[in-house]
Amino acid sequence: MGNIAVENIGKLGFGLMRLPRLPQGDVIDVAQTAEMVDLFLEAGLTYFDTAFVYGGSEEATREALVKRHPRENYTIASKLHASSQPNADLARKELEISLERLGTDYLDFYLLHAMDKNNYETYKKYGLWDFVKQEKAKGRIRHYGFSFHDQPEVLDRILSEHPDAEFVQLQINYADWENPNVRSREIYEVARKYEKPIVVMEPVKGGALATPPAEIADLFKSIRPEASCASWAIRFVASLDGIMTVLSGMSSLDQMKDNLSYMKDFKPLDQKEMQAIHQAMAAYNNIRNIPCTACHYCTDGCPMNIPIPEIFSAMNTRLADGAIARSKQMYEAAVAGRGCAGDCVGCGQCQQMCPQHLEIINLLKECSEAFG
Ligand code: SF4
Ligand code: SF4
Repeated sequence: MGNIAVENIGKLGFGLMRLPRLPQGDVIDVAQTAEMVDLFLEAGLTYFDTAFVYGGSEEATREALVKRHPRENYTIASKLHASSQPNADLARKELEISLERLGTDYLDFYLLHAMDKNNYETYKKYGLWDFVKQEKAKGRIRHYGFSFHDQPEVLDRILSEHPDAEFVQLQINYADWENPNVRSREIYEVARKYEKPIVVMEPVKGGALATPPAEIADLFKSIRPEASCASWAIRFVASLDGIMTVLSGMSSLDQMKDNLSYMKDFKPLDQKEMQAIHQAMAAYNNIRNIPCTACHYCTDGCPMNIPIPEIFSAMNTRLADGAIARSKQMYEAAVAGRGCAGDCVGCGQCQQMCPQHLEIINLLKECSEAFG
């Protein structure tokens, strides 16, 4: 497992991408975030994950965590997003800015963000593999790796060309484990072949597995009536071998409490529970689904202010459960005061940003036809 002391990192990591918001305006609720941070640390957990491109997250982390707790009591991961910068100098500058925003002089983990076949070329062109190596030598980074969104062959190529990467961050969840478009299991197996510690992102698939189709929810309830559906999703990935930690992007104190209730003293899935997960995987394979993780990378630059992930979430509810009335309500709530699916002008900005490589323009056309 490289030189990262994987066993010392709790199996739950605090993902800081979807922090709670104040009711007035789109502002992070730092007071609630601080309460969540305190509960997380009290549970003996230590891994905090933010990124340069998570608007306001690094600053909120400084206020809720860095200013309030001794630096040696936790670890921070942040990320450099090359493709959002026009040149190498500005891309390198991201580290400086992240350190300033966070109010710290080092990062425990630093990731080249959203690596895929295309971005890989940008990271090479900007010389960023050398950059992270140099920053590690200077002590501003303790460990470096990358987060990944592509096919297993691409991961194999990157890890064969960069054996120095100390860890990888992968999108793994039970619904996509055998999904032929996502190939989650094969991606996991490539990382294991190279013996890289794995940080898991999106174990609950952007929140979708917190409310799975009724047949899956009923199956889980029949075995553990008290357990949330999200707990099944997180415990599945945390039960896999080689997992360094599982990130949960928590948005409220209640989500934190629920996660801690089963991750504080984590127990891997037993045989009966694993069987249920395999049944749920099979059920998901028969359901068409838009694999959007609600990361919102696509929405900032949309000239029509279309709430793309919320529209896809409504569509997934319709596809999964045939819940036409409920999905229409979700759609109408999402587009109130904003652009609707039919307003898309096909500029393609969103598709360039989507780490899941979704054909957003075509999917929005489909949603427009479904929801009118
Ligand atoms: S293609 Fe459509 S949804 Fe995407 S950014 Fe342009 S207008 Fe918005
Ligand atoms: S469509 Fe793509 S970029 Fe937009 S929220 Fe979904 S996964 Fe993220």
